[in-house]
Amino acid sequence: MNMLSPVATPVVALDVGGTKIEAGVIAPSGDILARQRCETRPHAPDLFGDVVALVREVSHDFDVAAIGVGCGGPMRLHGERVSPLNIPTWRDFPLRHELHGAFGVPVFVDNDAKALALAEGVCGAARGLSDYLSMVVSTGVGGGIVLDGRLLDGRDGNAGHIGHVNVLPDGHPCECGSRGCLEAETSGTAIRRMTGDAPKMASEEIRRRTGTLVGRAVASVAALLDLDRCFVAGSVALGFGDIFFASANEAAADYARIEHARGLRVEPSGLGADGPLVGAAAVAWRGLSS
Ligand code: ADP
Ligand code: ZN
Repeated sequence: MNMLSPVATPVVALDVGGTKIEAGVIAPSGDILARQRCETRPHAPDLFGDVVALVREVSHDFDVAAIGVGCGGPMRLHGERVSPLNIPTWRDFPLRHELHGAFGVPVFVDNDAKALALAEGVCGAARGLSDYLSMVVSTGVGGGIVLDGRLLDGRDGNAGHIGHVNVLPDGHPCECGSRGCLEAETSGTAIRRMTGDAPKMASEEIRRRTGTLVGRAVASVAALLDLDRCFVAGSVALGFGDIFFASANEAAADYARIEHARGLRVEPSGLGADGPLVGAAAVAWRGLSS
């Protein structure tokens, strides 16, 4: 792999999710030199202590240039304060500041779905593309947008939150307070609530509906932002497989009619299990080069 990093030393990559926390040391080439994970204890008073121990354990043999973090949203002040929906003990938690205090190297924090969008461009299906939407349909629904070769941040760092685009005027209530949001209709959590069973048991009708609603949201984004490619990761989308992608593409073709969005394609992510770590490293590389 080519050098991807603006510096010659490795970086620590940290992926903070509601289920697990993973840390790695990533070489400038993108190769993963070491990795460790632990379970997330979302209600633990000292979750940050777990994070520090994990980073220390994985990085003690390395001289690292920075720490890059992909963390569940939402956040404020471009990652200065994080409030992951599924980690109730962290509300406006100053994760960047605390990590900097603990390790003394530059720390860059971004949304995990935005980090994944960066990874898709570095080593996934969006290599060489300068305009695309990257999204995850998993426990929740998130996304990141690369436009003109640049990951969009927005006012507070939350650009790309496609999970809260409306797809049904009077749909299910959403965690965010609205109703009919894409996340409230298609996330693993929403599907479990609707069907009373694990998403992997979902009927063909539910799989089709999930794809259709995702395609509908993607069509709006494509029309708004002048893009024609969307890459989808996450166990719900990938688990639903061909039915999901066929329905998403049918809906995309049906709704994205304006010329610049015509031909919109919704495709599986090209990232494997390394996506979140490479994404977090890309957050650090992006920070170091800005
Ligand atoms: P995370 O949300 O932590 O990033 P995943 O991408 O693995 O993790 O998403 C977890 C969600 O995917 C859960 O709601 C789970 O029930 C669902 N899921 C796991 N396997 C499948 C499958 N084969 N088909 C559909 N949904 C699945
Ligand atoms: Zn919502």
